[in-house]
Amino acid sequence: AKAHGKNHTTLFHPDLRTAHLHHTTLATGLRHARTRGELTLHYQPVIDLATGTTHALEALLRWTPTAGRPIPPDVFIPIAENTGLITDLGHWALTQAITDATPWHHHHGTALTVNISGRQLRDPAFPHTVLDTLARHHLPPHALILEITESMLLATTPTETQRITTLLSDLRTHGIRIALDDFGTGYSSLAYLRTLPVDILKIDRSFTTPPTAADHPQTRAFTKAILELSASLGLDTIVEGVETPDQAALLRQLGAPHAQGYLFSPPVPAPHIDELLHTTPWQ
Ligand code: C2E
Ligand code: CA
Ligand code: CA
Ligand code: CA
Repeated sequence: AKAHGKNHTTLFHPDLRTAHLHHTTLATGLRHARTRGELTLHYQPVIDLATGTTHALEALLRWTPTAGRPIPPDVFIPIAENTGLITDLGHWALTQAITDATPWHHHHGTALTVNISGRQLRDPAFPHTVLDTLARHHLPPHALILEITESMLLATTPTETQRITTLLSDLRTHGIRIALDDFGTGYSSLAYLRTLPVDILKIDRSFTTPPTAADHPQTRAFTKAILELSASLGLDTIVEGVETPDQAALLRQLGAPHAQGYLFSPPVPAPHIDELLHTTPWQ
């Protein structure tokens, strides 16, 4: 729901200069965020619906400027992508996440799932960097999931898309899994499914959340169809944004393998994860 909802010519914001200044100020602040220690990672559990155990932990970036309030990732990630800062931020996040998640994997068998931006995938050194970081921390490649979105491919040429496809295949031969994030929000999701080498579909919450209680039968039909499609392609599925026990019950009934959402846990700081892993399974 992120990028699509942004209306740059909103009636309530006639002063575009202020918006531009705000953007420039954020970009300047973001340039120093890592060295000033303003970045942290939070982690949200992905639940195995059959057992109630934690299947994976998704790393989500947080930025709190020293003098200010937290800036939401939906605001600073696009700025980081446009300015190229995402290469530095993404590298920091990946290394930090692998550092945090290695003991969780060794004690609880949980996987780590990390969001990757298109810029990172355009870097030919990316696979080497990832494999090298895994090796240095002794985290096996099968414990790492990289989340990509189809929107990162929108502006690419066929040659570039081919290069990214090859890069993803290369990572997969090493055992790293690829998840297609926000599935169901794009315009060409099904077309991408045919070409992209992926292991996991993350179903966007807009797909499985009934807008009103009356829409429940339709939501059920959509959810059932998408789970069947995913399974018939041999893919694993994670349903995002599960907020109510009703949603979880429906997903269990339909045999959804994995889910994530506020019902189970919001993203929490790394020091909370140990306790969380000890207090599961979830109901
Ligand atoms: P995403 O990857 O789709 O992450 C899921 C977002 O949904 C997270 O927002 C999470 O806090 C939120 N969420 C989780 N459960 C629920 C729920 O039950 N209900 C609702 N309404 N929301 C839920 P967050 O942390 O604000 O991140 C927003 C987006 O920023 C992410 O969407 C991702 O696209 C991007 N992002 C975050 N961290 C990184 C990163 O390290 N690298 C990159 N490239 N992007 C990142
Ligand atoms: Ca994600
Ligand atoms: Ca998502
Ligand atoms: Ca999203």
